[in-house]
Order: sequence, then structure tokens, then C-alpha cells
Amino acid sequence: MPKSIVGGRRPIPAHVTVYLFVLVPFVALVAAVPVAWGWGLSWVDVALTVVFYVATCLGTTVGYHRYFTHGAFKAKRPLRIALGVLGSLAVQGPVRHWVADHRRHHAFSDREGDPHSPWRYGTSPLALVRGFWHAHLGWVLDRSLTNQERFAPDLLADADIRIVHRLFGPLTVVTLVAPALLGGLITWSWTGALSAFFWAGLVRITLLHHVTWSVNSVCHLIGERPFTVRDKSANFWPLALLSMGESWHNLHHADPTNARHGVYPGQIDVSARVIRIFELLGWAYDVRWPTPERLAKITRAPV
Ligand SMILES: [Zn+2]
Ligand SMILES: [Zn+2]
Repeated sequence: MPKSIVGGRRPIPAHVTVYLFVLVPFVALVAAVPVAWGWGLSWVDVALTVVFYVATCLGTTVGYHRYFTHGAFKAKRPLRIALGVLGSLAVQGPVRHWVADHRRHHAFSDREGDPHSPWRYGTSPLALVRGFWHAHLGWVLDRSLTNQERFAPDLLADADIRIVHRLFGPLTVVTLVAPALLGGLITWSWTGALSAFFWAGLVRITLLHHVTWSVNSVCHLIGERPFTVRDKSANFWPLALLSMGESWHNLHHADPTNARHGVYPGQIDVSARVIRIFELLGWAYDVRWPTPERLAKITRAPV
């Protein structure tokens, strides 16, 4: 079972191991791009990959996370359904599973009961390697499911979302077939369909999986902690753009219902920008934007 959180600095060997675990898979993924260029990656693939990545990432961050899990804003019915569908297309589980797991994460963050804490096995280098694996990917492979009656009763009671939840299987097929179909139609070739399936389907889903999981693993290990929290959540700037603002994770744990996670100038938070656009369009309302008073309250006092 998880150990209690111990203060102090992480030893250097553990720190190096963490960095290796973070960087190597990403380097491999990035290296695959120039290697593949010239035989299997076209500008059509790049464009489709970006479009599908942005749409499904926002479905996860704005939809599954800030809206469904935390109620950072209210959404009109079409937006609510669209966010549920786009989040499902990220292939991170049906909406109620995702929301129930994530609410449980906040309820027990880095303590016993947290579904994905990297501190689960202790603070030694070996324990952190195991913990990193568990928080990043291992927990996904755990067969036990979070209790939805306890953690997502609002979504269980919602007829629209019950349908979206049930459509997760077909939507997974859509998220793989749609890029292939578009790639095939745009290039009018079978090879165009196949390479779009690979890049805008498989690689895009894998990349977003790892970015999302990195918020669970990396952002509870490395980074700045300017805000008052009871857990190990941290702001990790290198992931801000790819995660569309979710890696400002220390602020998020200090103020979970806040619609903006990157609260300071220069802290890029694309998801917050998109929520603002929804608000201006009248699709979202009662948005919980940060106030200076609230930020002052949760900012850690200088030691
Ligand atoms: Zn967290
Ligand atoms: Zn959250």
C-alpha cells in the first residue's frame, strides 16, 4: 500500500532515472518523424494529425477534465454533448470512468486511494521507478474500476451522457477510421489512407495518451510548487503546450474548479483560451475564472 509522503529532496540517482523515463520515449517518438519523412509522412498526414490531436486533446482537457470532472464552467446542451464525444475520441476510456478516476485522484491525491500516485511505493530510487511506471501507465492496466455511484452520480443521472458513455466502442472505431477515410479521399489513394491511419490515428492517440499520463506521473514528481497543496502536484512548463495547459498541475490541485490552470503571464494555457471563446460565443457560461484574491489565498507564503 502507498507510503505516506516524506519531505526533503529526491536523491540524484532517482532524479536521473525519472528524467530518463520521461525523455527516452519522447525522443524515440520525435526521432521516428524524420526517419519516416520521405516514405510515409506527407503534409496531409501532418495536417490531419494536428487537427485530430488538437480536437481530441481539447475534448479531454476542456471536456472530460475541466467541464465534466470539475465543473469549471456550465455548457449548453450541444457543447456538453460535443465535449463528451470529442473526449471519447481520445481513447482514454468512457466519460464516466475517466471522470470517476480523476475525482478519486483529487480526493486522495498522493495518498492511499489515489488511483495513480507515483509516490505509491515510497521514496527510494527503485520505489520511484515503480511508482512512475504505475502512475504513468501501470494504473491504466489495473482491472478494478472506480465506483461511479460515489464519484460520478451527476453523470449517471444525465441521459445524454449515458448515451455518449455507451457509444465509447463505436467512437473508438470512428477515431481510427476517420483519419484514414479523410487521408484516402484527400490524396485519392490507398497509401494516403494507410499513412493517415498510422500518423493521425495511431501515433496521434499514442502521443496524447503519453501527454495525458505524463500529467499523472511527471507532474506529481518534477516542477515548481508555488501554490499550497497537500500533495506532490507540480507545474511542469515543458509540457504546457502539448498538454494544452494541463501541466500547470500545481495550480490545478490548489484550485481544482478554476477554468484557467496557467494563471500567470507567459503560462500558456490553450484550454483556457478555448473556454473563453466558448464563453464569448455564448456556449459556455458561469465560468470560474481566477481572481487576484483567490490566487493570493492559495499562493504559498515565502519561506
Ligand atoms: Zn494530479
Ligand atoms: Zn483535475
